[in-house]
Amino acid sequence: MTIKQILEESILKLKLKKIKNPHLNAEILLSTILKKQREFILSHTEYKLTKLQIKNYQTLINRRINGEPIAYLIGHKEFYGFNFNVNKNVLIPRPETELMVGEALKFTNYNSQPTTLIDIGTGSGCIIITLAKLLNQKPKNQKLIGIDISKKALLVAKQNALAHNVNKKIKFIKGNLLQPIIHNSKFITPNSKILILANLPYVCESWKKNYSVDSIGLKFEPQIALFTGKNGLELYEKLFKQINELQNKNYKFKNNIDIFCEFDPSQTILIKKLIKEYFKNAKLQIKKDLAGYNRLAIIKFQ
Ligand code: GLN
Repeated sequence: MTIKQILEESILKLKLKKIKNPHLNAEILLSTILKKQREFILSHTEYKLTKLQIKNYQTLINRRINGEPIAYLIGHKEFYGFNFNVNKNVLIPRPETELMVGEALKFTNYNSQPTTLIDIGTGSGCIIITLAKLLNQKPKNQKLIGIDISKKALLVAKQNALAHNVNKKIKFIKGNLLQPIIHNSKFITPNSKILILANLPYVCESWKKNYSVDSIGLKFEPQIALFTGKNGLELYEKLFKQINELQNKNYKFKNNIDIFCEFDPSQTILIKKLIKEYFKNAKLQIKKDLAGYNRLAIIKFQ
């Protein structure tokens, strides 16, 4: 079977199952199997595939038809212009999360004070690794930490840090939200400004049943990285409680913490209320993502 024939066959299959962008899907998966660029596929249409290649390709096409996200099938996803390994133990990085990275870069690059950046629920590590690559402060002035409750997710994050050559710059810790820091504040550089970055699971359980065919891919992602509680803000509330605890424990942390939280646009009113409840004197700013939707809460204490 040639590239041309197998592409025609698989595109037809994908179209029948109403998968969006069937050509692109078929070509990307074939280039993964052949370990060649897409350009090769398009310019070598008469190239003959081996039996094994055909079998492996058909398996991928069938998984795609089943709704499995392409990032899991090819094992990586682009975020902020960098490539990150992903597998079923981590959430696939989303374009809307690039907003958080952009704002964190502004924050750190305008700030000459020593900084501790803590990425809570780091997953693939895409946020903290991108920051480690792009921050222009002197390394001795900054500490970067990634925390996740999942050991398997931390393995992926560590692999990614190594692949991007920033493994020595980031400390990855297993733990429940901010718990490891509360237990051991040696992780924080003394007198540093702390920036907490949280893209926690914020999809509420009740939305699950309303997912359309388009969102079917969510089924394949780690459910603990997506879903939480009745309104989706349960974990943010838990985190805010922990931050209160940290601030009360040590007065130095009172005004020295900034918090960035990603949320769903439909949660705007609720998250504002929650922030007011836990941080009475904080300044709150809501930022919109590139699609124009409220996406990021920035909480500052001075
Ligand atoms: N933005 C993601 C989605 O809508 C959710 C990510 C998260 O829960 N942190 O699928």
